[in-house]
Amino acid sequence: MDRYSAIITEISKMGGAVICRDEPLSRHTSFKIGGNAALMIFPEDPQTLAMVCAVFARAGEKPFVMGNGTNLLFPDEGFARPIINTSKMHSPAEILEGDKIRFPAGMNLATAATIAAKNALGGMEFAHGIPGTIGGAISMNAGAYGGEMKDIVFESRCVDANGEIFTLSAREHDFGYRRSAISEKGYTVIDAVMHLTAGSAAAISECMAELAAKRRESQPLEYPSAGSVFKRPQNGYAAAMIDQAGLKGLTVGGAQVSEKHAGFMINVGGATCKDVVELIDRVRREVYRQTGTLLETEVKVIV
Ligand SMILES: Cc1cc2nc3c(=O)[nH]c(=O)nc-3n(C[C@H](O)[C@H](O)[C@H](O)COP(=O)(O)OP(=O)(O)OC[C@H]3O[C@@H](n4cnc5c(N)ncnc54)[C@H](O)[C@@H]3O)c2cc1C
Repeated sequence: MDRYSAIITEISKMGGAVICRDEPLSRHTSFKIGGNAALMIFPEDPQTLAMVCAVFARAGEKPFVMGNGTNLLFPDEGFARPIINTSKMHSPAEILEGDKIRFPAGMNLATAATIAAKNALGGMEFAHGIPGTIGGAISMNAGAYGGEMKDIVFESRCVDANGEIFTLSAREHDFGYRRSAISEKGYTVIDAVMHLTAGSAAAISECMAELAAKRRESQPLEYPSAGSVFKRPQNGYAAAMIDQAGLKGLTVGGAQVSEKHAGFMINVGGATCKDVVELIDRVRREVYRQTGTLLETEVKVIV
């Protein structure tokens, strides 16, 4: 018997979730970095996700919720807190009246945007190339090419730390730049409704293909990374500042400032969390020294 035995027994009885002990986080993050998670639960549908949250709440545990792990940096030493990983939630999207679609929290944005396009509903084109899930994107208010989740979220069904399920209206998400009430208050998104706009399926798909080509041209997608490491500062672009500071190609261990896109740090082979943290620190110091701007991380460094 250990800290998680009773929780595991309860979740096993419910069914609908995969339970992993000592699971390497490097397998579940786009950086391919991180030691073992002591306990990782993969609910397979929104109902099970809600029940799993309630089990943890009753046990007084505060699980860390992750989606595709595309904005996360976990420690090399591993992670003792339980993790709920939503990336196996493949229940179908629901097409609703009034140009709306409900998606499970763990659905990939690419899948969700493709479903929207097939139903001739536009508005998610910007999100198609972001490698996260619906839940992660809402929590982060992910955005690209002039669009943000805040433009399309109609409502989200969430669970709080006590296992209570409630619905947040668009306004109640209190979206800001790469933040939301979900991230601030530690809510877990179970599923969410997007309010889209009727259009031409062919034109929507064409727009997504154009944006994908732009990404391939400008981003080092062939390497593990977590996308842009820094938030956009008030007075310019992080990538431009890093480039002008002469930091492209700067390397610590297996972590490197991408030559292709200075805003990205890439894992060129065997990078550790420690390497990336040190590289972040060096870049911040040098950009600050040269410009007086202190860059803030967009990537979440989990401790
Ligand atoms: C190659 C590449 C390109 C990228 N391009 C972009 C881009 O253009 N624009 C952009 O904004 N980001 C981009 N990102 C970053 C990342 O994909 C986004 O931040 C994405 O929204 C994270 O989703 P995720 O499912 O991977 O979340 P994770 O990385 O797993 O988690 C991120 C945050 O969301 C929270 N979270 C996850 N699921 C839930 C849930 N169900 N309920 C509540 N909270 C949850 C986590 O606790 C964490 O705080 C890129 C990353 C990569 C690797």
